Amino acid sequence: MQSDRLPGHPHIAYVGDELFVEKTALSTLAQQYGTPLFVYSRASMLAALATYQQGFAGRQVQICYAMKANSTLAVIQLFAKAGCGFDVVSQGEMQRVLAAGGLASRIIFSGVGKTRAEMHAALKAGVGCFNVESEAELVALNEVALSLGRQAPVSIRVNPNVDPQTHPYISTGLKGNKFGIAHERVVQTYQRAAALPGLSVLGIDCHIGSQITQESPYLEAMDRMLDLVEAIEAAGVPLHHIDMGGGLGIDYNGETPPEAAGLWRKLLEKLDARGFGERALMIEPGRSLVGNAGVCVTEVLYLKPGEQKNFCIVDAAMNDLPRPAMYQAFHQIVPVKPRATNAETWEVVGPICESGDWIGHDRVVSVAQGDLLAVLSAGAYCMSMASNYNTRNRAAEVLVDGSQADLIRARESYSDQMRLERLLT
Ligand SMILES: *Cc1c(COP(=O)(O)O)cnc(C)c1O
Repeated sequence: MQSDRLPGHPHIAYVGDELFVEKTALSTLAQQYGTPLFVYSRASMLAALATYQQGFAGRQVQICYAMKANSTLAVIQLFAKAGCGFDVVSQGEMQRVLAAGGLASRIIFSGVGKTRAEMHAALKAGVGCFNVESEAELVALNEVALSLGRQAPVSIRVNPNVDPQTHPYISTGLKGNKFGIAHERVVQTYQRAAALPGLSVLGIDCHIGSQITQESPYLEAMDRMLDLVEAIEAAGVPLHHIDMGGGLGIDYNGETPPEAAGLWRKLLEKLDARGFGERALMIEPGRSLVGNAGVCVTEVLYLKPGEQKNFCIVDAAMNDLPRPAMYQAFHQIVPVKPRATNAETWEVVGPICESGDWIGHDRVVSVAQGDLLAVLSAGAYCMSMASNYNTRNRAAEVLVDGSQADLIRARESYSDQMRLERLLT
C-alpha cells in the first residue's frame, strides 16, 4: 500500500486511506480507547534522541530530557532506558523520575522557585546538580545542605542576554527576564557560592528560550558562556561542566529548525576552537525530543456553519491542548480518514465555555460530524499542561511501538477528579 508521510513527522503517515502512527491505525486506537486520545510514537522519540547522540559521538555529554515537555511515566522510562538523565523543575518531577526507574544522580534540578522542602528532598535523593537561579537561592540551599551535613552540587544559571527570536512567553535568556543571574553579576555570584561551605560548585548553565528555529542564538550563547567560564575560572573558581539548556524548535507549520546533530557539530567546533574541547557538557532538550512524536486524536462532535465563521466543534479542548489558548500556538489539524468531498474553512474549537478555547483558526479541511481529526505536534507541552477546567477528565495516552500499542495513562474518571474534595458536614 502507498504510504504518504507527513513532512516533519517521519513516523506518522497515511497508509491506504487512513492515518497511522508507525504501523498502528489511529482509528483503531480511537475505537478502543475513546477520544480525545494522545498517541505517541516510540520510534520517533528515540530517533529524535539519536540525532543528539550522533552529534555528540565520542564526547563526554549528559543529555538530560527536560521532562516538563511530557512527564508521563512511560515516556520518562523510555528515555531513562536510552541513557538520558532528566532536567526537573519541581520535586514532583523528581518523584516521577524515581518512580520510572531513572537515576537520581542524573537529575538536574532547575527552576527559579525551589522551596526548602524541595531542596531537602532532592539532597536526600542525591540529585546530580542543582541549577541555581538567584543569590538568595544559593544562601537557602547552603543552609539546607548544612542542616543535612552535606554539600549540594550546584551550577549557576546565567542569563547570556541572547535573543532567541522566539515567542516572548518562551524566551528566557534576555535581560528583563525572571530567569538566571545577570551577566554582570555572574563572577561575583560564583565567588560567593564557592565560599559557602554547604555548596560544591560544579558547573554553569543557561537556557535561552524555547522553539528556537535558528542556529545563531545558540552559537552566540556558546560564545557568551565561554567568555563567562574564562572569567569565572580566572577569578579562581574551576568549573566541571557547561550546560547549554534546551530550546531547539520543531516543525509545527513549516518551520525549519536546525537538526540537532548538525547544530552540535558546529557548537563543538566552537568549543574546540576556544580550547574547551575536553570540558564535560550537558544539555536539556524537551520539545525537540517529544513534540513531533505525538498526536491528539479528537472526534468532530458538531458542525455549526455560520454567516461569518464555520465552527467545527471537537471533543478536545484547551484543557487538553493548551498551547493555542496560551501562546496562540499553531498545531496542524488533519483528518484521520480524508474525505474526497470539497474542503471548507473551519474554526476548530473545543466544548469549553471560553472564546479562547480554540484549536485552530481558518483550517481548510473536509469534515463531517463523527469524523476523527488528528492534531499534530502534540507530544510536547500538551498532556503535561492539561487541566481539568470545566471538570473535564484528562485524556488517555497510548505509546505505539510498530503495530503494538500500550495504554500508558488511562483516561481520568470523574471520581478521580473529586477524590480529594470534601463536602461540608
Ligand atoms: C523548559 C526548559 C527546558 C526545555 O526546553 P525545550 O524548549 O522544551 O527544549 C530546558 N531547560 C530548562 C531550564 C527549562 O526550563
